[in-house]
Amino acid sequence: MTHPSIVILTGAGISAESGLGTFRDEGGLWAQHRIEDVATPEGFARNPALVVDFYNKRRAQAHEAVPNAGHTALARLKAEHKGEVLLVTQNVDSLHEKAGSTDVVHMHGELASALCANCGHRWNAPLHMEVGEACPACAQPTARPDIVWFGEIPYHMERIEEALSRADIFAAIGTSGNVYPAAGFVQMATYVGARTVEMNLDPSETVALFEETRPGKASVTVAQWVDDILNG
Ligand code: NAD
Ligand code: ZN
Repeated sequence: MTHPSIVILTGAGISAESGLGTFRDEGGLWAQHRIEDVATPEGFARNPALVVDFYNKRRAQAHEAVPNAGHTALARLKAEHKGEVLLVTQNVDSLHEKAGSTDVVHMHGELASALCANCGHRWNAPLHMEVGEACPACAQPTARPDIVWFGEIPYHMERIEEALSRADIFAAIGTSGNVYPAAGFVQMATYVGARTVEMNLDPSETVALFEETRPGKASVTVAQWVDDILNG
C-alpha cells in the first residue's frame, strides 16, 4: 500500500500529558461534578450558571495548556504523509491545532466556540462566557458552550463515516472506548478491511476489537507509530 488512507480518533488521553485531566482522573474537574449536571442539556436547563462556569474553567485550563509530543507527531503525519489523513477528536481543547494540525474534526464540539441555542449560529467564545449572553446573529440571550452533551448528536458524522468507509488504517489514541458512536469506529474500520491500532495507557473497553495495540503514554507511542508510518 503506497499511500494508505488513515483515520485517527483521539480522546482525553492524548491531552493528559499536557495537564488536562481525563474523565477518570481523581481530583480533576470531572471528579468534582456529576456528568448529569454539567454535560447534559437537562443539566444546562436546570442550572446554566453551573454549566457555564464549569466550561469557563475548562476553557481557561485548555487555554494555558501546551501540546505534547503526541499532538506534534500527528501534526507531522498530517503534513508529511502522502495519503489522506483525517484527524477526528473527541476532545474539546485546541491542542491539535496548537501543534499545527489543520482541519481537525471536533466531533464533540470545542471550548473555543459558542453556539446559539435559538438559531444555531456559531462564533468564537470569549475566554469567560456569561450566562444568557446575546447571540450576535439573532440577538436572543441564548448563547451556550458549543459542546456536544450526552443525549446530543455528535458533529460531522457523515464526513467521519465516509472517511472510515475508505480507510486503510484506523488508529484510536487515548480513548477509553466508553462513549458511542466513537467507540464503534473500530468496527466500521474492521468491516472495510482497515488495519486497526490502539494506543492507550490502559486497555480500552474495545481493545479486543483492535488488530494491534501499542500500550503506553501517547507522547511516546504516537511518536513511534508516526515514525513507523512515515518510514514504512
Ligand atoms: P476517557 O477519560 O474516558 O479515557 C481516556 C483514556 O486515555 C483512558 O483509557 C486512559 O487509559 C487513557 N490515557 C490516560 N493518559 C494517557 C496517556 N498519557 N497516553 C495515552 N493514553 C492515556 O476519555 P475519552 O475516551 O476521550 O472520553 C470520550 C468522551 O466521553 C469525551 O469526549 C466526552 O465527550 C465524554 N465524556 C465521558 C465521560 C466518562 O465518564 N467516560 C465523562 C464526561 C464526558
Ligand atoms: Zn442566534
